[in-house]
Amino acid sequence: MRGRNLRGELDTFLAGCEQALIDFRRDLHMHPELAFAEYRTTQRIADRLTAAGLVPSVLPRGTGLICEVGSGDGPTVALRADIDALPVPDEKDVSYSSTVPGACHACGHDVHTTILLGTALFLAQQAEAGLLPGRVRLIFQPAEELPGGALEVLASGGISGVDRIFGLHCDPRVDVGKVGLKVGPITSACDKVAIRVSGPGGHTARPHLTADLVFALAKILTELPAGLSRRVDPRSSLSLVWGRVEAGSVANAIPDDGVAEGTVRCLDEEAWHAAPDLIKTLLESVAGAYGVEARMDYVRGVPPVVNDDVSVQMLAEAAAGVLGEGSAVPTQQSLGGEDFGWYLESVPGAFARLGTRQPGSLHLADIHQGTFDVDETCIGTGVRFLAATALTALWEGQRPSAGEPLVALNLDN
Ligand SMILES: [Zn+2]
Ligand SMILES: [Zn+2]
Repeated sequence: MRGRNLRGELDTFLAGCEQALIDFRRDLHMHPELAFAEYRTTQRIADRLTAAGLVPSVLPRGTGLICEVGSGDGPTVALRADIDALPVPDEKDVSYSSTVPGACHACGHDVHTTILLGTALFLAQQAEAGLLPGRVRLIFQPAEELPGGALEVLASGGISGVDRIFGLHCDPRVDVGKVGLKVGPITSACDKVAIRVSGPGGHTARPHLTADLVFALAKILTELPAGLSRRVDPRSSLSLVWGRVEAGSVANAIPDDGVAEGTVRCLDEEAWHAAPDLIKTLLESVAGAYGVEARMDYVRGVPPVVNDDVSVQMLAEAAAGVLGEGSAVPTQQSLGGEDFGWYLESVPGAFARLGTRQPGSLHLADIHQGTFDVDETCIGTGVRFLAATALTALWEGQRPSAGEPLVALNLDN
C-alpha cells in the first residue's frame, strides 16, 4: 500500500458505485433468506462477481460461494462475510423492509455481504491493473446464525492455502466511520449441556435402601458449577448456569429419574476445549458418591473468536490509512457467539466491529432486534476498510522480515 494513494483510489471507486451497493443491500434486505436457504442471495452475489469477470464457485450444499481475486505466488488472504438472515419479523417502517413474513436481516449480514461484494469489485480492478501482490479469497459464507456455515466452508477446503483471514460485524454501539478492534478474544463460546440421572426410586421414608435421586441431583446442580470455579482459571470466565431442572411427581416417593439442562459460556479457547471432559469428571464423582447413574449430553456451540495480534495490527494500519487517524477504537469482548471462531482454529486472523450508528442518533436497536438498521454510509466505510486490510496483509506478507508497524497500536481498555 506504501507509496500509493489508496485512499484516493477508493474514493474514486466508491464515487462510481456506492449508490449501486446501497441498492444491492436494500434488495437483499427486502428478500432475507435463512440459514442454508440463501439461494437467491447466492445467485445475486454470483451474478455481480461474474459480471466483473470473476469466477465464483458455489459451495456443495448450493448456498454461499467462494471466489478468488488475483493470481501469482504471493500470499493468500481470505475475507469472509456471512449472508444469512434471522427468523425475526422486520419491525421497521422503511421502503426496503423485509417482504418475507417472520424473517429479516436483523444481524446486518446483508451489509457484510454488500461490503464484501464492493471490496471484491475494487480488488478485481486492482488485480487487472497489476496492483495485487497475491491472492484474495472472498468467502460468502451461509448459515452463520445456525451456526455451522463456517464448518461447511472448512469441509469444502475453503481456507486451504490461506495465510490469514479477516471478517467484520456491524456494531450499533459504534459511530459510523469508526471500527472497533481488540487483540485476543472478541466473542465467546456458548455450549449446551443436559444431565440425566437415574436410580431405583423408592419411598422417602427409606432413602438409605435406594438412591436419593433428588438429593443427588441437587448436589450435581450446585457442585458442578462450584467444582468448575476451582478447577478452571477464573480469567476464562467459564460459567455453567442451569436453565431447567425436573424430577419427581409426588412428595413421598423418590423418583427414578431426573434431568437438568443449562449452558456453558466461556471467554477462553483453552478452557472451552477442556470443559466437556472436566464437567463429565465432576459429574461422575458427585453421582457416584450418592449411588445414582448419570449421563451427560454436551452440545458444542462455537468457539470464541480469538484475534491474532499481528492481524489486528494490520486492521489498525488499514483503518489509519484509509479511514483516518482515530478511526480505530477499542472494543470489548462480547458474550455473544460468532462462528468465525472456527476459521481462527486453523489460520491466524482477526474479526473487527464496524460502526453502524448515525452519530448522535438516539435509535439504539441492538442486533437481533426487529428494529435494527444501519447508517448506510457504513457500506463505504466497510469497503475502504476491508480492501485496505487485504492489501496491507498482502504487502506485509511480501516483506522478508516483520519490520516496523506503520501505526502504534494502542487499544487497551
Ligand atoms: Zn446474529
Ligand atoms: Zn451476525
